[in-house]
Amino acid sequence: MKDIPVGIEPCSHMRDTVVGMAGGNLRGWRALYAKLHVPRCAKCRAFLNAIKQYFATVESVAKTEEAQPEMAWENIEERWDAIDAKGPPNES
Ligand SMILES: [Zn+2]
Repeated sequence: MKDIPVGIEPCSHMRDTVVGMAGGNLRGWRALYAKLHVPRCAKCRAFLNAIKQYFATVESVAKTEEAQPEMAWENIEERWDAIDAKGPPNES
């Protein structure tokens, strides 16, 4: 998995796990490990919050586009440029 552009680094061995946690698709021992590690680790906590915010921003742009295809287009483009400049989150 490549970088998600949030400007915060978690513990190096935790990156994929925290990203999975933010996306709600962790299972098994990784989910358990994340539950134990993240609340006790300031870096991973900050990273988790930043990713959640990033996902929420992407989602809100997508929703705005669906709801107001023409009226909000300029606004969307502006916001999307800021997100897109950082690149997409990579899945694997
Ligand atoms: Zn950590």
